[in-house]
Amino acid sequence: MLSMSSLVQYSDSEDGGSSTDNDDSDRPVNSNIMRRKRSQQSQNNVGSEKKTRTAEFLPLPDTIKSLFSNEHKHLDNSENHEGRTRSFEHLEGNWATHINVPYNPDERMIELIEELLMCLRPFDFKPMKELHLSLSRTVAIRHHWIKPLTESLQNRFKLLPRTCCEISSVKLYTNDEKTRTFLSLTVSTPGDILHEYTQAVDECFEEYKLQKYYENPSYHMSIGWCLCDVIQQISRETLNTLQETLDSTLKEHIGLKLFAIEEAICKTGNKQFSLQLSKDRR
Ligand code: AMP
Repeated sequence: MLSMSSLVQYSDSEDGGSSTDNDDSDRPVNSNIMRRKRSQQSQNNVGSEKKTRTAEFLPLPDTIKSLFSNEHKHLDNSENHEGRTRSFEHLEGNWATHINVPYNPDERMIELIEELLMCLRPFDFKPMKELHLSLSRTVAIRHHWIKPLTESLQNRFKLLPRTCCEISSVKLYTNDEKTRTFLSLTVSTPGDILHEYTQAVDECFEEYKLQKYYENPSYHMSIGWCLCDVIQQISRETLNTLQETLDSTLKEHIGLKLFAIEEAICKTGNKQFSLQLSKDRR
């Protein structure tokens, strides 16, 4: 049975965030210290002997020394997240951020997912702990970008209409690093409105030089995953069985085929912000 409790999703397809050019606080601490060191060195050339002796009596505070140790680094232990690896290093002050439409499955959908994952045996596909439709890659942002970025997303989304999605087929994806394979359900909307959503996100991301969504996006909801790229090893016959299973269930439970989108969310670190859509529908 799927548990829909929240789990930190490790990134699949993302690059780290970048700093704004004129913002000193975003520069690595090391480079600020190096600059200070360089200016100290030039002063030292004037009265070097006196300065050297002073330095002997002024040890660096522990807080400064520890900046260069591993103490501030999050040490990744793949055992903590079922062998998955991060595709960007977790750094203090970087917030993993992802825009998506959450999907709350009912009992019938949970059963369907279990059935589909069974078809993939002996591959060990695990159900996703949370279901969503991605509208962005996972990107890393600085803490002080959270407020302005979420505000600009909220302002863009409130001008876009709500819509209704249709689940159409099963499809396999891999992440960019090809370290995981996903079994997903592709979705479509009238008039390509999903593309308008991802374009809105891309426009907001652009200001922060964050990685855009795929040039040729393929909108989907991942329902299971396994380690490594196993796409080539899954037979045509298995793919047909998956599609037939989906088709027959959707035919029997017509309500499963469609779901409404009324809001998206911006997940950043352990925070979550609602991106409400306008009341118009398309
Ligand atoms: P998601 O469930 O949204 O995390 O997607 C599963 C994986 O599909 C992610 O790692 C995406 O990077 C990957 N993916 C590969 N090609 C595409 C594409 N054309 N559009 C969207 N996602 C893609």
